Amino acid sequence: MEATNKTNNVVVIGGGVAGSLLAKSLQFDSNLVLIDPKEYYDIPWTDLRSMVEPTFAEKTLIKHSEYLSNGTIINSRAIDITATEVLTEEGRAVPYDFLVVATGHDEALPQSKTDRLEQFKKDYEKIKSSNSILIIGGGPTGVELAGEIATDFPDKKITLVHKGQRLLEFIGPKASTKAMKWLKSKKVEVLLEQTVDLDSVSEGSGEFKTSTGTTISADCHFVAIGKPLSSGWLRETILKDCVDQRGRLKVDDKFRVIGHEKIFAVGDITDVKEMKQGYIAQGHATLVAKNINLLMKGGKESALSPYKPGSAIAIVSLGRKSAVAEFPFMTISGCFPGMIKSKDLFLGKTRKVMGLDS
Ligand SMILES: Cc1cc2nc3c(=O)[nH]c(=O)nc-3n(C[C@H](O)[C@H](O)[C@H](O)COP(=O)(O)OP(=O)(O)OC[C@H]3O[C@@H](n4cnc5c(N)ncnc54)[C@H](O)[C@@H]3O)c2cc1C
Repeated sequence: MEATNKTNNVVVIGGGVAGSLLAKSLQFDSNLVLIDPKEYYDIPWTDLRSMVEPTFAEKTLIKHSEYLSNGTIINSRAIDITATEVLTEEGRAVPYDFLVVATGHDEALPQSKTDRLEQFKKDYEKIKSSNSILIIGGGPTGVELAGEIATDFPDKKITLVHKGQRLLEFIGPKASTKAMKWLKSKKVEVLLEQTVDLDSVSEGSGEFKTSTGTTISADCHFVAIGKPLSSGWLRETILKDCVDQRGRLKVDDKFRVIGHEKIFAVGDITDVKEMKQGYIAQGHATLVAKNINLLMKGGKESALSPYKPGSAIAIVSLGRKSAVAEFPFMTISGCFPGMIKSKDLFLGKTRKVMGLDS
């Protein structure tokens, strides 16, 4: 095998869970470029704690420069991909030999860490100064937010409205029942099979109407309805035929986008049939880093490692001590899964993966 060719340009689009790890892993073996609109990696599963404890965010927002000492960081959005380049919103054309799309979910977050910290402080002030709070959406974000507020501010009146028949529809009904029971024990009012018309919502009005005509009084509200996949922009690129109906990129078992040998995709954006979880996205990143490294060294196609999805675990935190966890053969709730996730929300572990102290 040849020595690593340092002139290979590897471009990673998206500095989230998978993209940041992949960029970190390949920075010393290639000319590495990371394209992300933000200057930091925002660990998604820590965000809701930062809303009730803003100082927690200091370590959960990891500047890309903290783990990428040997790469180029472009703070912009990718808007197009050609056969040789990635075009960014701010007008740059970034050449690639290998490209990885890791754009997961879209959310308009501030570009600077300082502004993101400010956002958490504002959320905290909003929660603190309100007696009653409406949360719209009963997926993991809505349930975890309700759990954080109910734990740290037990006197607040919390109402959670969810359009589905049960909470946490991404996992099984047993987990939904356990989460519901816990929320009720904390006096959170949960309204299922109802929606709140987001267009008619105005902060400060104090009243919200649901689709079934229920009126909810709340001093403030939070929308927690799951972020869309960031794949709309791909429909204007050379990958347009590789985006499926759900907005996922079709990949082979080596995470190469179908029909594009030098273009890979990792994380939630892929169409791999498995639960979309961050630790799984990290697994994709590790495997693709290994495979790209091998290709850069002149390794044979047949030597690339394939990916086999395994069974997944999901843990939804319920405040600082409790959680509900779905393992392949059982679903449990209480302080045992709480001990695994809820104390620091995997912050130390995630920072360690990025080579940083906890
Ligand atoms: C409340 C909650 C709790 C969770 N808890 C857990 C947990 O305990 N354990 C777990 O394993 N998983 C958990 N997850 C799931 C996990 O967060 C996702 O599976 C993970 O974030 C997917 O990683 P990703 O890299 O594919 O995408 P993301 O982390 O969404 O990263 C995408 C990145 O791409 C960037 N981007 C988007 N569009 C563009 C563009 N056009 N150009 C450039 N950059 C772009 C974004 O800015 C972002 O940085 C949780 C999710 C939520 C919402």
